[in-house]
Amino acid sequence: MSGIVGVSTDKSVVAAHPIIYGVYALQHRGQVNTGVALLDNNQLVVRKGSGQINALFPDNISMNIPGDRGLGHVKYGEYLQYDIEQPILPKEYKINGTNCLITIDGNILNKDFSLHDLALALNSSLQTGKEYLSKLQGAFAGVYLDPYKMIGFRDPVGLKPLYAGKFDHGYILASETCAIDSTGADLIQSVDNGEMVVIQKDKIDFYRYTEKLPKKKCIFELVYISRPDSYFDGLSVYQARSQMGKILYEEYPTSADIVMGAPDSGLIAAVGYAEESKIPYKDGIIKNRYVGRTFLTTDESERKTDIFIKFNPIKEVLRDKEIVLVDDSIIKGSTIKRTIKMLRNAGAKKIHVRISSPILRFPCNLSMDIPNVNDLMAHQKDVEEIRQEINADSLYYLSMEGLLKACGQDDFCDHCFTNNYPIKPYEEGLWV
Ligand code: SF4
Repeated sequence: MSGIVGVSTDKSVVAAHPIIYGVYALQHRGQVNTGVALLDNNQLVVRKGSGQINALFPDNISMNIPGDRGLGHVKYGEYLQYDIEQPILPKEYKINGTNCLITIDGNILNKDFSLHDLALALNSSLQTGKEYLSKLQGAFAGVYLDPYKMIGFRDPVGLKPLYAGKFDHGYILASETCAIDSTGADLIQSVDNGEMVVIQKDKIDFYRYTEKLPKKKCIFELVYISRPDSYFDGLSVYQARSQMGKILYEEYPTSADIVMGAPDSGLIAAVGYAEESKIPYKDGIIKNRYVGRTFLTTDESERKTDIFIKFNPIKEVLRDKEIVLVDDSIIKGSTIKRTIKMLRNAGAKKIHVRISSPILRFPCNLSMDIPNVNDLMAHQKDVEEIRQEINADSLYYLSMEGLLKACGQDDFCDHCFTNNYPIKPYEEGLWV
């Protein structure tokens, strides 16, 4: 999982600023590595490092790097075939004498895939770029950039998102609409599945590179990944999460003294649950907002200590209370277990856990870095076994029908809940 930004300007502004603002807006999509690369005519300036964008650019002065165009990238986890810090300079650095950059969110699964070959095809001509893209399989969105053009592309079934926006002096492409908002640009539209967008000078054109296939958007963008102020292919992420909470209550009404969300992933569904149930919503845990997101810390031993640095319960809110605790999902289960323990230590009487998505039983090698099947809490367990393991007084998961109703659309990948793989399987080195 990553967040990507591309900016191309008319040379009258410093492109580093909108790129860095965009990367800030996408930081929730990854905090392991951050990279920004700019082209100043044909000169290249690259800043890459581990951690967050503020480590690379701690002040306004450091942001003043030259360049009228560039790319930004934040990353969580590892890619299957190209696990290197992005944005990437294709192997030979220059193609036909020009510097080229490329950045990708997701996984391109073709056995013989090479970023250099992709950059070469996109550098060459529209037709060659289309032909190369049409052979790719996987869940991906990407941006290619050289001194003359910027090209965005989205996978054939639209598992990964990409949006185009326009500001006074150029264009922006980004993984989420919140990144476009953060630069003051206006959203033009989402890049469609199987589509590419080409920006040259002051022109923007959208082209299909493959036939229109049924969309299979990653539903986890709405459940967990995207920022609530973003729109996902026209759907308000906030609205969808709030509806998930409302339908959770409709499906399985529960009485309690207070409703609270697991910070931050369950907060909006909890507000929806509270509105529907008329049970008061309370902040039972305060989060230290200056520490990174728990799920985004890859080291399990660090995650164990993270939670105590990041969260503190409010005993006056929790003591002797029967609580509905809403969270978006249970993946490994370690976070919810520690949250429940924290609530019990603070004096909670009963804890009813409500999850605003179905049981997550299958790993994802497409969009998220959902781990190995054996690491999933729900692997070979039923709801009662999970309830016992997390030490909740009751546990209920939103149904698949309820999740789709909350989203108001049905063109999603739901493999991690249903085991229905959204693209054809890979066999003997070939996609079939
Ligand atoms: S398996 Fe789940 S996380 Fe992966 S792309 Fe599909 S819906 Fe998204």
